[in-house]
Amino acid sequence: MSERNTPTRVLVVDDEPEVRDAYRQILLENEVTQEMVGFRELRSRLFKKNPGDVARERSAARAGTIEPVFCDGAEAAVRLVKEGITRNEPFAVVFLDMRMPPGPDGVWAAQHIREVDPAVEIVICTAYSDADPGEIGGLVPPEDKLSYLQKPFHPHEIRQMTIALSSKWRAERRIVRLAYFDTLTGLPNREQSRNRLVGALQAAKDNKRTLAVLYLDLDNFKRVNDTLGHAVGDELLCVVAERLRSSLRYGGESSPAGTADSARPGDIARLGGDEFLVLLPNLRSAADAGSVAERLISSLREPVQLAMNSLVVTPSVGIAVYPQDGEDAETLMRNADLAMYFAKRRSPGTHAYFDAAMNANALHRFTVEEQLRGALDRDEFALQYQPQFDVRTGTVSGMEALLRWTNAELGAISPAEFIPVAEETGLIHAIGKWVLLNACRQARKWRDQGLPFQRIAVNVSGRQFALAEYPSEVAQILEETGLEPSALELEITESVVMADEVWAQKAINELKQLGISLAIDDFGTGYSSFGRLRHFSVDRLKIDRSFVSSVTECNDDRAIAAAIIAMSRSLRINVTAEGVENFPQLAFLQEQECQDAQGFLLSRPLPADAASELLKRANDASDESRTARLRVIIG
Ligand code: C2E
Ligand code: MG
Ligand code: MG
Repeated sequence: MSERNTPTRVLVVDDEPEVRDAYRQILLENEVTQEMVGFRELRSRLFKKNPGDVARERSAARAGTIEPVFCDGAEAAVRLVKEGITRNEPFAVVFLDMRMPPGPDGVWAAQHIREVDPAVEIVICTAYSDADPGEIGGLVPPEDKLSYLQKPFHPHEIRQMTIALSSKWRAERRIVRLAYFDTLTGLPNREQSRNRLVGALQAAKDNKRTLAVLYLDLDNFKRVNDTLGHAVGDELLCVVAERLRSSLRYGGESSPAGTADSARPGDIARLGGDEFLVLLPNLRSAADAGSVAERLISSLREPVQLAMNSLVVTPSVGIAVYPQDGEDAETLMRNADLAMYFAKRRSPGTHAYFDAAMNANALHRFTVEEQLRGALDRDEFALQYQPQFDVRTGTVSGMEALLRWTNAELGAISPAEFIPVAEETGLIHAIGKWVLLNACRQARKWRDQGLPFQRIAVNVSGRQFALAEYPSEVAQILEETGLEPSALELEITESVVMADEVWAQKAINELKQLGISLAIDDFGTGYSSFGRLRHFSVDRLKIDRSFVSSVTECNDDRAIAAAIIAMSRSLRINVTAEGVENFPQLAFLQEQECQDAQGFLLSRPLPADAASELLKRANDASDESRTARLRVIIG
């Protein structure tokens, strides 16, 4: 960028004052710069640039003069090169005398300079034939950045070499900029930030210090890009980059006393898109990384004014700390990225520290999602059926279809785990349809076999329920399978109904018009009251397992369960108690005159064949007494 206008720095190292003077005359001669101009002009003409460009280049080249620096010994030379690097004013070329008694020689100097500056062009000058290029080249790699000059030399040689080598050096620097810096924001890019992280990690290891990696991702940048166009998006990224950069630089003033270490400027890079990485070397404590993260976040809270728009894009930030969260660059970057992902999920515009559980959980979550996508096609789903008993008569009143998923990589996964993933990804629509279709088919089959069985219960996700076309989907499946609507009961949870009561009312009415029944699942876990539920024409409440399991121990739950049963009776709503696991619980339900019960005590969910067997047994025992029937069915 502005680099073109800065002078090219050349270091001359020779112990003889006369030689240094000779260099001075040659390098400060106006001609060198003029020759550079001539060379550029010739090149421009050869490649047919327009005259404006040539004029601009000419003035740029005039500004790009040579700035020679002189010293008389090897040690001073190394020191000067080091200073140049730290001030970001590196030398392009170093002319080194081979022999500088009594100090170290040119080869020593070249080796040390090369360690400090891998890019500088080194020229070794000698009056003797004692410099064996083959040998020195091996000591001071790379060979293409090492040249030789035999004394006495002609001014032309020095001049030509200076021009040729500095222009090669500039070209290489430009390539490096392109390879290691983001052209939009001028920040280091992913490659460069990784290199810096590797270097910082080595330093942290050597000095037994800690460091942190912050992964930033803008929360709503994509929307800006999509709605306002890429040009605005690019501008916004530049503003964001500048704010983050200055917030890191000037953070010291605004940070609370005692966190001075955290205020030490960090290194910021753009990883691509709307992702940035901040490296905090020399961290005093892991907690300091969190305050830096908050500072970065608040630096972006102030709206950005672009054209007619006032935009706010806050980042979600993930933090990984060396050594506890990883000992190498890849692990730290990956873990910071994961933590960012968690922060964004939990609450955008906040920061989160990585912890080991995130790793296992997140990876597992990704795998579940990945595998779930192909599960229908691979025919990995199956239904099991859990009987619901009428405890007053001892007959099977219904069967609840419960989805099972067995995957080659993950094994059997519980619906409590994969249903939320299916809901988040929208896969629940196709999966739910599959469930309803297969449950209705099975119910129709049992009906055709004349087995005693009143209804099939099918769970419906809130996502399905929220679709306007859901009732027609149900109607179509009923028609396709030929199951009479009165044999189908859909289970929706309380929270789904309460999320949008107006919508729920409408959807429930539409479904009821098909002639099917509706049950509220897991009742008691949400916040609905009987008063509000009464407005919905539901047919059944299923008392959540958590109440049933404690009716024999907890007086409150006992009272709640009893109240639900009694009030349902007065509202003429049916009740099913879920999760009945032992006889005392069953006795309690009978005492309260609860109609239906479902639970492991009576039967676990069964594969279709076993469920058919159970229905047959129930059929055969239809003439027995209630207790005898229950005994036969339970087996
Ligand atoms: P849910 O609808 O409340 O189903 C009852 C759950 O309780 C089932 O778990 C069942 O196996 C379990 N259960 C029944 N009796 C007992 C008992 O005595 N003790 C204990 N500890 N558990 C008992 P499952 O099959 O793991 O299903 C969990 C949940 O996943 C279901 O809760 C339901 O919300 C959801 N789910 C299952 N299948 C489907 C489906 O096809 N579609 C949708 N949307 N959700 C489903
Ligand atoms: Mg259910
Ligand atoms: Mg339930």
